[in-house]
Amino acid sequence: MDNKKLIAITGASSGIGAATAKAFSAAGYPLLLMARRIELMEAMNLPNAICKEVDVLDLEGMKSAISEAEDAHGKVDCMINNAGVMINGKPQSQNPEDWQKMLDVNIRGVLNGIHLVLKDMVERQSGTIINMGSIAGIKTFPDHTVYCGTKFAVHAITENIREEVSGSNVRLINIAPGMVYTELLDHGCEEEARKGWMDYAEQIGGALKPDSIAESVLFSYQMPQEVCVREIVICPTGQEP
Ligand code: NDP
Repeated sequence: MDNKKLIAITGASSGIGAATAKAFSAAGYPLLLMARRIELMEAMNLPNAICKEVDVLDLEGMKSAISEAEDAHGKVDCMINNAGVMINGKPQSQNPEDWQKMLDVNIRGVLNGIHLVLKDMVERQSGTIINMGSIAGIKTFPDHTVYCGTKFAVHAITENIREEVSGSNVRLINIAPGMVYTELLDHGCEEEARKGWMDYAEQIGGALKPDSIAESVLFSYQMPQEVCVREIVICPTGQEP
């Protein structure tokens, strides 16, 4: 009989989310995988994984996916709010619609995930929420203005809620990766911003692989419930800022 509890992951179709899904699956956890590209999640073919086509901005869609997975595996013990977008550029030349996308997915998407599981966790006096922040949630970077704004928000939201529910035995964890090779740059960054990121990654001997971030997520979750790893900042050793 499997006694491992349900792990829900947003943005599980690629990059860090997909690597995290594989790491938790290898450790034997039942999974709820959510993203818009369901075919990529299904193609991973992970055992005990329910894959749902979910936009993190669709609160009702996320709620019904969680409810279906909870009927099969019990309550979500760990919600990993990983879905995010980065569209880098200069605020004076960027399309304001790109700011809106980042503000929506990176902030409202994370809040939606928190909202749907936190009440239950507080009532059960147990549970973990892991939010994917960034080194860009700690310091600023050229061409990252709006993205940094959203990630600073993720860090603030995570820490604020952590304080509020610490007395209920619920953990809030912030993972703050530095440069990681994923599809993150492929969704509309201005060319100069994209080139700056890639050139710097090359100069420092390469960005991290998503697996390293996945391992840190798994580690933080697998610490005993009374231990809260509040934040992990995990970057390539050669990354200077
Ligand atoms: P990817 O682009 O590879 O992954 C992003 C994931 O988010 C995809 O699975 C995508 O799925 C999902 N996503 C985007 N929009 C939505 C939406 N509206 N609803 C549901 N899912 C959505 O990039 P990463 O793996 O790098 O990004 C994962 C997280 O890590 C992000 O929060 C990012 O900000 C953060 N991060 C990344 C760093 C890096 O250097 N790569 C550094 C620091 C933090 P789909 O398109 O199928 O919906």
